[in-house]
Amino acid sequence: MSPVEQLKLVRNALPADVTLIAVSKTHPADVIRTVYDAGQRAFGENRPQELREKYDLLPKDIEWHMIGHLQTNKVKYIAPFVRMIHSVDSDKLLAVIDKEAAKNDRIIDVLMEVHIASEETKSGWEPDELRAYLERGEWRRYRNVRIRGLMTIATQTEDHTLVRHEFQTVHDMFAELREKYFGTEFDTLSMGMTHDYPVAVECGATMVRIGSMIFGAR
Ligand SMILES: *Cc1c(COP(=O)(O)O)cnc(C)c1O
Repeated sequence: MSPVEQLKLVRNALPADVTLIAVSKTHPADVIRTVYDAGQRAFGENRPQELREKYDLLPKDIEWHMIGHLQTNKVKYIAPFVRMIHSVDSDKLLAVIDKEAAKNDRIIDVLMEVHIASEETKSGWEPDELRAYLERGEWRRYRNVRIRGLMTIATQTEDHTLVRHEFQTVHDMFAELREKYFGTEFDTLSMGMTHDYPVAVECGATMVRIGSMIFGAR
């Protein structure tokens, strides 16, 4: 089936209030264009230069989401236009995003990435490290970023009980932090990919990031 047909299947499988990020990394601009023409506006990429190139080639009303690990020296490529950065994992990165956003006279929406999976390779804050960071309050001085919620990647496993437990843990933390620090502006919980998005939605995801189910294998 074509990406456009797959898009319709995914869209129909999601509740209306869950935002779909079509993860287009490695796929060329002309394929992304067909999915855009079918009505999809939010796309996700994990490399800043690739994101920048696609931004230049494609319609300007696309909402680009940076979902991969981001080095501070690459923020400048995407700061002028990126809609949301899902992968903030340090104060240093948040400070650079704030600075680049200010240069572009923008406020950039970001998510804090929480490390919950058992794989050690995945980035993100350990839950208690993020709690301690928010409690210290340095983030309050950044005027050009808005912390909108959390992002997480679950363990790659067929064990749905484990995946559900991980998503539930991050959902509970999301509710806790919203209550303690942010209020209603903290409204985005980005979790769920091709193989685990139904579980993520059951656990309260407001945004899912789906690549291979739409575009095929990479
Ligand atoms: C690639 C990627 C996705 C999409 O993965 P699929 O399995 O292709 O749906 C989601 N989130 C992140 C952070 C990714 O890097």
